[in-house]
Amino acid sequence: MRLANKVALITGGGSGIGKASCLLFAREGAKVVVVDLKGADATADEIRASGGDARSFSADVSKAKDCEAMVKFAEEQFGALHVAFNNAGIFDAADESVTNTSEEVWDRVIDINLKGVFLGCKYEVPALLRAGGGSIINTASFVAIMGAAVPQIAYTASKGGVLAMTREIAVEFARQNIRANSLCPGPVETPLLAELLADPARRNRRLVHIPPGRFARAEEMANAALFLASDESSYVNATSFLVDGGITGAYITPE
Ligand code: NAD
Repeated sequence: MRLANKVALITGGGSGIGKASCLLFAREGAKVVVVDLKGADATADEIRASGGDARSFSADVSKAKDCEAMVKFAEEQFGALHVAFNNAGIFDAADESVTNTSEEVWDRVIDINLKGVFLGCKYEVPALLRAGGGSIINTASFVAIMGAAVPQIAYTASKGGVLAMTREIAVEFARQNIRANSLCPGPVETPLLAELLADPARRNRRLVHIPPGRFARAEEMANAALFLASDESSYVNATSFLVDGGITGAYITPE
């Protein structure tokens, strides 16, 4: 098993990419701490029902005390922390162009998507050091790398921040056996995307730019995260790991 003897904490584990990752990491032998505002219990129950080991923890990643408590909980429950997957994030329907996005929306998106990752790492890094090292995976997005004509200014800025911050953490702690990488998904069929692309015209506008002509599945992101979490990626550090079906590589897509 690829994560035998490892303890993994995954935020946003109640849904989408985070949930698929919790289930996969547990199947690969990890003890999993499922963190979310909602849905964490159900994911942990599902893991235990299929013979895996998991605990749920309710936390708001934009709050320092919650992030400190989730890491403490992981160490108390399982004795150490080896893998931290900071994946919780939001889209806000009112996050649009720079000219009409409110300051409130900007603050909310940055608080969860960027400050939430900062706070996670702030408390996870000392725990990983106590364990002798480990792997951090922070979920960014392909939109951190290329501009979109359908703007979400706060979201895009938050994900760009995740890339820069993750690189810096990766460099600072590399000699202490900690690796840190960003996962940059393309559009994935999750509740989050369904909400954003409920309008068929908006949906098709996105699909046109995806070389395989379909959105990703959450399990395809979980597979990538598994690689970054496991020792198979022992020399992979500070990357912006793109799992986007080739969107960022394409200028013109097939008919
Ligand atoms: P999702 O909505 O299915 O899951 C996100 C989870 O995060 C939810 O369970 C939600 O409750 C949780 N969450 C939100 N705010 C939180 C908070 N303050 N504290 C704790 N938990 C919180 O979405 P998803 O598509 O699985 O997204 C996961 C990550 O992937 C996000 O960071 C998202 O930005 C990123 N991403 C998604 C896509 C996509 O197309 N779905 C593409 C690129 C990047």
